Amino acid sequence: MRAGVVVVGGGVMGASIAWQLARRLDPHTDPVVLLEKKELAAGSSGKSGAILRQFYGDREVAAMARDSLRVFRSFENTTGRSIAFMHSGVLTLGSRAKPGEAERVAAIVAMMRTIGIEVELIDASRLRVLVPGIVASDDTVAAWEPDAGAVDPVLTVQAFAALAREHGAVTRIGACAEELVVERGRLRGVRTQDGVIECERAVVAAGPWTRPIFERIGVELPLRVVRPEQHFLALPGGALGAPGPTSTSRTLAALTQPREEELFARFDGDGNGLGRAPHPVLLDLEHGLYSRCDLVTRRTRVGRLDYDTDADVPDPDRVDERVSAEFQAWARATLSMRLPRYAQEPDADSFVGMYTLTPDAQAVLGPVEGRDGPIEGLFVASGFSGHGFKLAPSIGEGLAQMVLGEPVSAFDPAFFAPSRFRAAAVRRSGAFGL
Ligand SMILES: Cc1cc2nc3c(=O)[nH]c(=O)nc-3n(C[C@H](O)[C@H](O)[C@H](O)COP(=O)(O)OP(=O)(O)OC[C@H]3O[C@@H](n4cnc5c(N)ncnc54)[C@H](O)[C@@H]3O)c2cc1C
Repeated sequence: MRAGVVVVGGGVMGASIAWQLARRLDPHTDPVVLLEKKELAAGSSGKSGAILRQFYGDREVAAMARDSLRVFRSFENTTGRSIAFMHSGVLTLGSRAKPGEAERVAAIVAMMRTIGIEVELIDASRLRVLVPGIVASDDTVAAWEPDAGAVDPVLTVQAFAALAREHGAVTRIGACAEELVVERGRLRGVRTQDGVIECERAVVAAGPWTRPIFERIGVELPLRVVRPEQHFLALPGGALGAPGPTSTSRTLAALTQPREEELFARFDGDGNGLGRAPHPVLLDLEHGLYSRCDLVTRRTRVGRLDYDTDADVPDPDRVDERVSAEFQAWARATLSMRLPRYAQEPDADSFVGMYTLTPDAQAVLGPVEGRDGPIEGLFVASGFSGHGFKLAPSIGEGLAQMVLGEPVSAFDPAFFAPSRFRAAAVRRSGAFGL
């Protein structure tokens, strides 16, 4: 078999890249082939919180989150496919009691507004109106993104892959890329259990499995895999409303100095026919927690807002799936400090996922180099460091542009270049790019 481009990995990145490539290539002369060894969304994507925030310390990444959110928000209208977009808004909470934190939240909000992101800085009194029952001291400040929210991760990956197929891509589920075939510094094909697919261009978006695939051809990437724990509580019982309208269109109040009733009206929690979210997505810098409601599974997710204590995963095929009682207790206690109603809600599940980390908490995107120099035609998209889902539309577009030799407009290739770690001083974002 011959392919125009092979994409390895059927997570959100591989599916998005395959979709964007297939839009640009003729399926008869240059077919796009997406290889997934297990099933779509079998890796990190299927366990993702799929929170779509734009609050990022780096302008570059905030702009990608902004552009990608536009795609997610209009996705159901433009494609007719459901990704269960939950229009709950996203709140990032900081505290004046922590040195520098409130100033940093304010500075990031100011930066976001300069690039056209709908966000405002609110104080504790406004926060209490926006989220009735929330516990916030007068030291609390928050960045409020009314247009943001979350999606269903599995539906999203399936929808992206279906669109790739509609544009002529071939998705081969159960096909494992066993080896990248490289000759004299140039990609020649990808070997699967069914033989070699000849191609001169390939993108490896294999999430936690990316590093070993490249190691086999002598390419070292600074990727490390850890296992974050996630705990779920039932959605607050009384808070689920009747299914709401399917449209998410609203009139937004003026951004500056909104009256409290206007602000409250701007949290509509609309879950696209799935009901109303009881509260916005929370990124709680003060307590080190993130949380989102999930109207599809009717439960609320809790995760830790750092990965310092997450254990390393030496082999992603043999990850320790156990969730500690300590984490479950922390999740309940910490979320309940903000929203006491969760103290009464039953446990709804727990699981372990995998983050693929880089030294600076930003992805590696672009051409790779072996020991003897660049390998022509071979690209990587990995190392999303626990915050990639929301960026997938921009990643898909930018990788497609890169692979086809077009000018890359979706992001700055230098910012994400795999070769950046050779520089003596590596710039560091915080965990999750915060
Ligand atoms: C618990 C958790 C919560 C998260 N929450 C958020 C969030 O709220 N917001 C956000 O923006 N991001 C979040 N993330 C991060 C985000 O989910 C990931 O960055 C993103 O899903 C990575 O997608 P991927 O396609 O690169 O990798 P994966 O989803 O891991 O996909 C890789 C795929 O490649 C396949 N594969 C591997 N090897 C081969 C091979 N040799 N041949 C063929 N196929 C192969 C695997 O089976 C897998 O399906 C979270 C991640 C986790 C784990």
